[in-house]
Amino acid sequence: MSPDSTPKKRPRRPEELPKCPSFDCTLTIDIIFLSCDGVHVGAHKQNLDNFSDGFPSPDLVQAPDASTLSGRCEVVELTEDAATLNILLQFMHKTRFPKVHELSTEQLFSLAEAAEKYMVYSAMSICNDRIEQRVIDYPVQALCYAAKFHYSEIADIAASYSVACPFDEIRKYSKSHHATIYAWFQYREFFIELADAILNPPVYINNRNQEHTCSFQGPYLTATSALLPKTNTKCMQMLAEKGTFDASVYNTHRPMVHGCTACPKRIDNWIAQVQGGLCKDFPAFTSFMT
Ligand SMILES: [Zn+2]
Ligand SMILES: [Zn+2]
Repeated sequence: MSPDSTPKKRPRRPEELPKCPSFDCTLTIDIIFLSCDGVHVGAHKQNLDNFSDGFPSPDLVQAPDASTLSGRCEVVELTEDAATLNILLQFMHKTRFPKVHELSTEQLFSLAEAAEKYMVYSAMSICNDRIEQRVIDYPVQALCYAAKFHYSEIADIAASYSVACPFDEIRKYSKSHHATIYAWFQYREFFIELADAILNPPVYINNRNQEHTCSFQGPYLTATSALLPKTNTKCMQMLAEKGTFDASVYNTHRPMVHGCTACPKRIDNWIAQVQGGLCKDFPAFTSFMT
């Protein structure tokens, strides 16, 4: 027997019918959900059918017995928590929808994921609008959500604000979604290379085939470094957010190397190195999604 065919333990039935989470709802409860945090939530098969496309068909959850009031309803175990189900089910009523801007970030993304999973179109749309408006507030979560559910515009904007975030965050919020992680690494590679070119001048080899050193270059590099981002991570973040970099910054302190013949050439090489990287164009995150 394969692991998938192992019979699951039947979910526990409540003693009494749970209430519908929609305020003042008078419809009959004919299906019960058991949340992952152990709470029974009442719902209506017809509403599930009318307002969503991803819940189990009512035919699949017909009551097998009617020994108790709640026994008339099949209990269906879901992986969402009660708070998420309560909000989601409110979107499956002919009533005003809950205000998603009042949700915490965690609740918003849990709702958005559940809405996508069960195809509750009203909740999908409202969550999507909210996330799109506030990408900058939670870029990593927005990226992981948008990449998983194919919202390219949100993913590309969110990626630019996520390029310098720790990998652990991408893994956590994507729930180890391989396509997202793989695309993020490829997208990030471009910024790592460019940040390296921006922060580190190229080696200059002189006519004697030796690395050039002189008394001018140290002060020039110190002064120029003060105008650049302090770390690779900060440099990547700047590139991702601004989408460009002005290489004329290397000319600001060019007068400091007057008197050396090699250092001006080295500055020219630095500018060319950076401009060469910038000419490659910034890739869109979604260009790496397969
Ligand atoms: Zn109801
Ligand atoms: Zn020099």
